[in-house]
Amino acid sequence: MPQVRTVLCDLDGVIWLAHQPIPGSVEAVRALQAAGIEVLFVTNNSTSPPSAVEEVLASIGVAADGAVIGSAEAAASLLVSGERVLVCGERGICEAVDRVGAERLDVDAPAARYESLIEACDTVVVGLDRQFSYQTLDRVSAAIRRGARFIATNDDATYPTPYGVVPGAGSLLAAVIAASGVQPILAGKPHQPMADLVLRRTGSTPAQVLMVGDRLSTDGLFARTLGCRFAWVRSGVAGDIEDTTAVSISLSMDNLAEVATALIDGSGVF
Ligand SMILES: [Mg+2]
Repeated sequence: MPQVRTVLCDLDGVIWLAHQPIPGSVEAVRALQAAGIEVLFVTNNSTSPPSAVEEVLASIGVAADGAVIGSAEAAASLLVSGERVLVCGERGICEAVDRVGAERLDVDAPAARYESLIEACDTVVVGLDRQFSYQTLDRVSAAIRRGARFIATNDDATYPTPYGVVPGAGSLLAAVIAASGVQPILAGKPHQPMADLVLRRTGSTPAQVLMVGDRLSTDGLFARTLGCRFAWVRSGVAGDIEDTTAVSISLSMDNLAEVATALIDGSGVF
C-alpha cells in the first residue's frame, strides 16, 4: 500500500468530546503535521461554519485553517448559483448556502407569503435545527411535495454530549420524510457528496488517505465510499453495537495518539 499522505479526522470522539480534548489528540495532530502529513477534519456537524470550528480547534492548540469540512458544505456542494433554497437548519447551513451563491428563501416568512414561498422553492436543505418547529416542517415538506429537490446534510439520528445522546439531524429528517413522502439526497458521511468534496480539497488519491473515526456506521462506511483505508479508534462512542461486516479496518487503536505513532514510526505503510 502507498504511504499515507492525508489523514481525515472525525472530530467528536477522535479530537474531542464536547470540545474537551481527548488526551494526546492535540499532540498527535501536531506530530502528523510536523511529519508532513496533511490533516483534514471531516465532521457531520452542520450547525457551525468551518471558520467557527477552526477557531475552537485553534483554542485547544490545533492549527486547522481551511482544514475543516462539514456536512453543510457537502450539502451546499450539490447546489448551483441562483438556486432558490429553503433551509431547515442553523448558521452553518445558511452560510454554506450563501457561499455557493444560492438564494436563501425566508422559511419564517409571514403566513400571507406561504404559497409564493412554496412555489419559489427549487431545493430544500435539511440539517440540525435546534429551533425546529411545526411551521418549518409544514413549509419544507410542502415544497418537497410540490417537487423541490430534497437534500439532507446527514442522517445521524443522535449525537453524543457529556449529558448523554441528544436528537441529531436524522431525527428531524425522519419527520420531513414522513410529512413529504420523499427520500432525501444524503450529503455528509458516509455518503458520496462528502467523499467527492474531500477528494476535491486534497491533492492525495484515495490510496494515500487514511480516515480516522470512532463510528463504523459513519466513519468506517465513509472510508469505504471514499475508497481509502480506515483506522478505528475507541475514544468516542463506547459500547456501540454496530455491524462491522461491511467495514474493512486497517488499524484498530485506542485513540488518535496511537494512530499517529503507528503512522510516523511505522512509515505509514500497513
Ligand atoms: Mg465521532
